[in-house]
Order: sequence, then structure tokens, then C-alpha cells
Amino acid sequence: MMELDTTCDNPYLALFNSQLRTSINWRKSNVEERVDRLKKIRSWIQKNQNDIREALWNDFRKPEVETDLSEIFPVTSEINHTIKNLKSWMKPGPVGTPLSMLGTKSKVQFEPKGRTLIISPWNYPFNLAIGPLVSALAAGCTVILKPSELTPHTSFLIERMLSEIFPNHEVAAILGGVDTSQDLLKLPFDHIFFTGSPQVGKIVMGNAAKNLSSVTLELGGKSPAIVSENADIPDSAKKLVYGKLLNSGQTCVAPDYALVHESIFERFRDELIIAIREMYDPNYKGIIESPDLARIVNDRHFERLEGLLKDAISKGAKLEFGGECNPHHRYVEPTLISGISEKMNISQEEIFGPIFPIIVYSDLNKAIYYINQKPKPLALYVFSQNKNEVNQVLEETSSGNAVVNDCVLHFLHPNLPFGGINHSGIGKSHGYFGFLAFSNEKGVLHQRVGLNNATLLRPPYGVKTRQIIKSLIKWF
Ligand code: NAD
Repeated sequence: MMELDTTCDNPYLALFNSQLRTSINWRKSNVEERVDRLKKIRSWIQKNQNDIREALWNDFRKPEVETDLSEIFPVTSEINHTIKNLKSWMKPGPVGTPLSMLGTKSKVQFEPKGRTLIISPWNYPFNLAIGPLVSALAAGCTVILKPSELTPHTSFLIERMLSEIFPNHEVAAILGGVDTSQDLLKLPFDHIFFTGSPQVGKIVMGNAAKNLSSVTLELGGKSPAIVSENADIPDSAKKLVYGKLLNSGQTCVAPDYALVHESIFERFRDELIIAIREMYDPNYKGIIESPDLARIVNDRHFERLEGLLKDAISKGAKLEFGGECNPHHRYVEPTLISGISEKMNISQEEIFGPIFPIIVYSDLNKAIYYINQKPKPLALYVFSQNKNEVNQVLEETSSGNAVVNDCVLHFLHPNLPFGGINHSGIGKSHGYFGFLAFSNEKGVLHQRVGLNNATLLRPPYGVKTRQIIKSLIKWF
């Protein structure tokens, strides 16, 4: 690693260079030092919980309870889980010695990748910025973090938080939009952790390729939910409504659409409507009055959602429930539509809002085929009490994660790898898997000094050497 030429005019070069010395020193950082950094973040969060809630409310009227559950809790739980396990994660793992390696000893040693860049999205703006930061610090990396420009209150808060805890040459937040992100992406980071859309994920990977920086890409896509005729219908409907309407549908792992067996379509739709009303309109004042439903983050996304709905209706979709779009409040009513066809934009792009298309299927094989025609999703949900059916779906589809008889919940499981596959992401995060993402798993082999097995393989290659190699091929 060398300092880059300071005559280049990248505005972040000096900052990037300033993290070089720290990143080299941090290679030797021990558990206590890393845990200490994590504890500083935890105590800052504990002292400033109200500021976090206020920032998210100001950004898109995120309900306080949802901020506690989906922004603060995942981060504090990630910190607690990491503090508890970091010592064992960091321990070099001994590996067995096969006969062909007789006389050597080997281990896997985890070294921090070094200087890292985290780019985060707006939809869980605190959680998805600070969660990866926890993993980076656990692995011993320095960080430049660029939060989303679309949630300015939370991004300012993150900048304040990091500047109060860390000097810039350890961890720094840089605020800005696309241009800032692109300037940062030109720098030869050792690892880039990006959370956002698949379109921007491709740009990030293209830039990373120029420097051969490794990447974790946490992307999105259309996560399907299969509801079979063997599902508990009211139970499935409640869980799907919760998963879909949390954060007003602006969740990467929200069920994007439901594939429902034709024999239960009407009952399922009615149960969805009951669940929406129970959760968001218990006093019959109108869903728009609910304090528990977040707003759409900005006008562009509001218009995008309204456009998706209008396009679907104009091409023959049937409105089963909802449909109100109020631009003044950036409110999109929880909406159910059926009669979906592939020519509708809603079948092609990630919805990322409270509109739930219900697609009817007659045969599970066809539902599986439908999913397999599309890019691999970030999550797949299957609701069924029939084990064979569940196994068939798990075996015949590919997705980053899968959940049986629930949705979204896997995000909070500290021992599960979280992430997508291909179009929905590359690499995994959370807990141990987040630690791995920011670590180089260095294989280290110790050889004896002097005579050892490998000396028998050296030239000149005589008959003996050839015989040894032949038996290696035959027996090992
Ligand atoms: P986005 O891709 O538009 O933006 C994410 C970040 O990239 C922002 O910080 C933004 O400034 C930056 N960016 C935007 N355009 C850029 C460009 N051309 N070049 C370089 N940087 C650029 O995503 P978003 O709208 O903030 O978030 C929504 C998307 O993120 C959805 O697709 C959602 O599914 C996905 N997401 C995935 C996860 C996950 O964990 N897999 C979590 C949340 C959101």
C-alpha cells in the first residue's frame, strides 16, 4: 500500500491517504481495542436515541417504534453480538495437515482488508450505514462512509456521530450525492461495501474493477412470496401485511408480490384487507391518519409509485383495495392489485412501496417457473404447512435468503448470512459474515527448516521425483 500522488485532484485523496497509517497500525489491533471502538458507538447511540428518532421522523415521518425496532435495535444487537463473539472470530483457525503436506503446520489468519468505503441507501439510513461500520471496525478496517443524500437529517446525524467518536484518519463520514459517491469510487479502497439498487451496484462494481477493490454489494430486486393452498391464510396475510407495510414498503426485503394458489385467492385477499385495517386503521379514522405508516421518502419516489399503479390499471390490472395517492403528504395508500401481466412496469421493476400485486397460480411448478424466469431475488418467502411443498420451493429456486411461514424477520437473525445473489447482491453481511466481508482470510503455512518433503520435488527431475509425483496423483 502506497500513498497516492497528492497532485491528483480528487477532493477526498488527502483523507484517503490519511487513513493509510491507521489501517497499517490496525492490522495489529487486538480484540480489546476493536471492542472499545464498538462500545463507543453503542454508548453514543444510547445517549442520542431521541436525536436518531427525530432525524428519521424529519426525513420521512418514520414512526418512532419502527425507528427503535428497525434502525436502533439491529445496530445495537449487531454490536452486542460482535462484542460477544469477536474473540473467537479473530482467532486463527488451525487447519488439518494432509499426508502430502506432512511436516508442515497451517492456519487461517484473519487480517483486516484495510481502507474501506461504505456507501449506504436512504431506506434504513441509520441501520444500513452503521451496521456495516460495525463489521468493518470488528475486522480492524478504517472507514470512509457516505450516507444517502435523500435522508439529509439522518446523514447529518451520522456525520456528527462519527466526528464525535473518531478522528477522520480512522473513520470519516462524507456527505454528498452521486458526484461525491463517484469521486470516492475512484480511490483504490481495499474493500467497498455498497447497499443500494442493482443499477448503481453495477456502477460501483465497474469502478471497483479498475482498482481490483473487493466488493460487497447488498442490492434489491423483486422478492416473491408464495402462498400455497396449504398455508394458514389469516396468519400468512397478517405477516405479509406487516412485512410489506413496514417502512411503507420501502424495505429491500419487503415481499414485492404474492403468488397465490387460485383456490384461496379471494380468502387471502379478504384477509389481507382485514389485516391492513386492523394494523393501520383500528379506530376507523382512515389509514392516512395512522401514525404507524411512514411516508414515501421524496416526490420522485412518490411519482414513481403513482406511475406504476396508473400503468398497471391502464393495462388491465384490477384494484382490489386502496389506490389513493396524496402528493401533499407523499402518502400512497396500502394497495392490492390483481390481474397482473408481464407488460406492466410493476411486474418488471422493484416496487419499493406499499403496493402489493397478487398473482394467481394453478400449479406450484408454474409459480416456481415464474420466479426462475426473473433475476434471483434477495429474499423468497414461502407460506405453506406442507413440508414437501416447502422443500420443493427451497430446492428449485435460488435467492439470497429464504423464510418459511414468515417474511423479513431473517434480517434480524444474528447467526444467518444476509445478502443477495447475482442481481440481488454479491457477498454476505451481518455478524460473523460481516466480519468476514471486511477480512482477508490469509492462509498461512509453516514449513520446517532444512530437509522436508517438498525438497524431494526439486529439479533435476529424475526417476525418483517422477515416481513421487505419480504416487501423489494416485493416492492424494
Ligand atoms: P441507490 O442505489 O439509488 O443509492 C444508494 C447509494 O448510492 C446512495 O448513497 C447514493 O448517493 C449512491 N449513488 C446513487 N447513484 C449513484 C451513481 N450513479 N454512482 C455512484 N453512487 C451513486 O439506492 P437507494 O434508492 O438509496 O436505495 C434503494 C435500493 O437499495 C433498493 O433497490 C433496495 O432494494 C436496495 N437496498 C438493498 C438492501 C440490502 O441490504 N440488500 C438494503 C436496503 C436497500
